[in-house]
This record gives sequence, C-alpha cells and structure tokens, in this order.
Amino acid sequence: MSVLTKAIVANSVIISAIESKDIVNKAIKIHNLSPVAAAAMGRTLTMAALMGKEFKNKEDYLTVIVDGNGPLGRITVCADGDGHVKGEIINPVAETVVKSDGHLDVGGAVGRDGTLTVIKDIGLKQPYVGTSKLVSGEIAQDFAYYFAESEQQPCGVTLGVGLNNKRCTSAGGVWVRIMPGCPSDVLDRVETIMYAMDEMSYQFDGSTAQQVISRFFGELDPVFTESAEVCYKCNCNKRKIDRVVRSLGKQEATDILDEMGQIEVCCHFCGKKYVYDRDSVDKLFK
Ligand SMILES: [Zn+2]
Repeated sequence: MSVLTKAIVANSVIISAIESKDIVNKAIKIHNLSPVAAAAMGRTLTMAALMGKEFKNKEDYLTVIVDGNGPLGRITVCADGDGHVKGEIINPVAETVVKSDGHLDVGGAVGRDGTLTVIKDIGLKQPYVGTSKLVSGEIAQDFAYYFAESEQQPCGVTLGVGLNNKRCTSAGGVWVRIMPGCPSDVLDRVETIMYAMDEMSYQFDGSTAQQVISRFFGELDPVFTESAEVCYKCNCNKRKIDRVVRSLGKQEATDILDEMGQIEVCCHFCGKKYVYDRDSVDKLFK
C-alpha cells in the first residue's frame, strides 16, 4: 500500500507527495517490465496517483498518455478519485540503456518526439483534454511543462523509481504547485528547495511521504492537510469485456470461435483473462 500526503506552505504553496514502491512493483509484476520500462511507467503511475487525489469525487477519472515515439511505445496510465491507479505500455520489455552517469536512459526509451496528453472525466458532457509536447521524455519535466503550458499552473515535479534488477526498491514523487499571491520570498525558497531535490527514489527509501515533505520543506512550516492510501487496481469487469466482444460484430466473433474454439480477451491493465465459449458468445449477440 502506498500513502500520499498533502501539505500547504504559507497558504500559497500546495505540496503533494507519495511513496509509491508498491504501485511500481505491482506494475512490474503484471507487465513483466524491463528496468527502463519500470522507471518510465513507475514515474507516470506515481504522477497520475498524485493528480487523482485532486478529484472531488471517487468516480472522477483521469487518463495520462505519454507517447514519445521511443522504443517503449505509448504509455497509458489511469487514476481515479478513489486512490486507484493502473497502466499499460506497448513494449514492456524494451531494452534498458544505462547512461554514462549511471542513470537509466528513460528519456531515450520514452522518446522525445511526441506528446503528453491528460484526459480528465469529471462527469461533465465532455471530458477535459490537455496536451503538450514532450520536452525530455524523462516524465517529471514533461509533466511540469504540461502543467505550465496546458493548465497555466506553475509547478515543480520530481519523480523517482529506484530499481534492483526487476524489483523496485524505492519510489516516490513530489508535486509542488504555486498558487496566485504566493509571496516572492516563499517562492524563492521553494524554487531553491525544488532545485535541490535530487535522486528522488533514495529520498523515499525507508521514508514516508510526510517525512520527505518535512525533510525538504520543514523550514517553511508545512501544514499537513490530508493523507490517503493509493494502490494499483484495475476496474475491468465482465460487463466491460462483454462490450469489447460485442464490438467485434457477430461474424468476426463466429470466425474466431470457429478457428480457436473460444474467444479469449486479456485486460491490458491487469492481465486478467476473460474466456468466452460458443454459448456465451451466442448470448451476447442475442
Ligand atoms: Zn483489468
């Protein structure tokens, strides 16, 4: 279980932080992620979890699509207002390249020739859709750029995923939003602190989100406002998959049955298999 904590500083800076190791390990297990895929997807899941906490209603829903035309392919991550995140990735086993500084080349694997898109569905007629260019493919910078460009929200984002072979040993993220009217001396301090926030995965190694906020922002007397649990959980169900099978059309479904004996649909987000035999397909098309 991962825990997200929020705090406010000087009534004008909102800090959200999450320790997300369990979320990343669940993603690694489901998708059999290579290290660089785990880093890219883990960072995206961590940020989506932070964003999901902003929703007022449990049913509110966001989808983040990172598509940089790199070896990993498109990464899609969803989060709801009830503390659930999930994700899928086109090429989970993309080769891991280590840069000369010892860090994984996440930007190279994600690619930089593409976009970051956020779709927010809060029950209105139309979902909100925002998009921006990827700036580095390293995810955190791309989100910061997205918020500035697409939502006119100045903020700092720092995300980290620490790995040992195919296990996440520590992960987390901090999202700092500057509200209108923030005093300039506070802004200067926050910018200096954010600049010093490096190696995020180590910061969360054995520390909670609240401890990380205190460690960095303690001098600004943060007021902790809320804390919540977040986990990797898929919301697929038979009814949704029925719709997918129906969308094949009767002819196509019958062709698959004739060839394979059954129709098997695997959820891209959690790996759960749904199997339809001839009887159940007949029922769907009645
Ligand atoms: Zn699922």
